[in-house]
Amino acid sequence: LLGYVGFANLPNQVHRKSVKKGFEFTAMVVGESGLGKSTLVNTLFNTQLYPPKENVELTHETPQTVEVKSITSDIEENGVKLRLTVVDTPGFGDFVNNEESWKPILDSIESRCDAYLEQENRVNRRKLVDNRIHACLYFISPTGHALKPLDIEFMRRLHTRVNLIPVIAKADTLTEEEVAAFKERILADINYHNIQIYQAPAYEYDDEETIAENREIMSKIPFAVVGSDKEFEVEGRRVRGRSYPWGVIEVDNEEHCDFVKLRQMLIRTHMEELKEYTNDVLYENYRTEKLAAMGI
Ligand code: GDP
Ligand code: MG
Repeated sequence: LLGYVGFANLPNQVHRKSVKKGFEFTAMVVGESGLGKSTLVNTLFNTQLYPPKENVELTHETPQTVEVKSITSDIEENGVKLRLTVVDTPGFGDFVNNEESWKPILDSIESRCDAYLEQENRVNRRKLVDNRIHACLYFISPTGHALKPLDIEFMRRLHTRVNLIPVIAKADTLTEEEVAAFKERILADINYHNIQIYQAPAYEYDDEETIAENREIMSKIPFAVVGSDKEFEVEGRRVRGRSYPWGVIEVDNEEHCDFVKLRQMLIRTHMEELKEYTNDVLYENYRTEKLAAMGI
């Protein structure tokens, strides 16, 4: 169903509190210019055909070469609220010397942790504002070959600080066979360089259906994504996609790309999980290192 997210239907007890309070989730997109980051973010926000309330705010946090901008949008579904923030990082990889392109991004991730840590240390800790990044989508150029040194460097520098989710950008420019082979190659490279990408834990108390769904989602990583803000008519259906002389590649069609699976993972099946891992493992490690460095 086009435009249906499904976060309102989370059946699990774990999610009940979140359902009442509303969900908050912050994702970041990183990758070279022109790989379709902005388009994919729009495609993601477009998910809700008629968002009742939307506030878009732009913040410039770092004066460095790579900019860090965030867009927040409140979406509502069946009375359940989701405040989704996407942090964009224009400029990454755009310079003559990109050796330190990862640095402003790491700085932003860490300063968000610092802001959280600072609040935790306050006497009144009732209302913590959490701007930590829960997932970082890393856009890989659809070359069909291998990861570039820039990709490897970024992931190596960031993997202990954020949930890394690699995606193959503009997957419509590759054939199905090329996508499959490229995915294998990317995973082999990631493995070779000991890069830790996000991996969902399997719970024995999950029912079979949930386990199968999670396994299916995880098997798509790196997600081959296609973004578009255009709609086309295909056999009487309105679809979002990209038009080619031989037909339309549909964004929301799982036969055509992994966009739906990525969206499901981020804002339905793994949202709480990504937040928990961010808080319990990534943030906790950062905090411990930071306090140790301060001699506490
Ligand atoms: P950004 O620099 O990473 O934010 O990239 P943009 O979202 O601005 O997209 C750059 C160009 O690529 C634009 O002309 C988009 O229309 C096009 N584009 C975006 N997503 C896709 C995609 O999935 N497939 C193809 N073929 N083109 C895309
Ligand atoms: Mg952009």
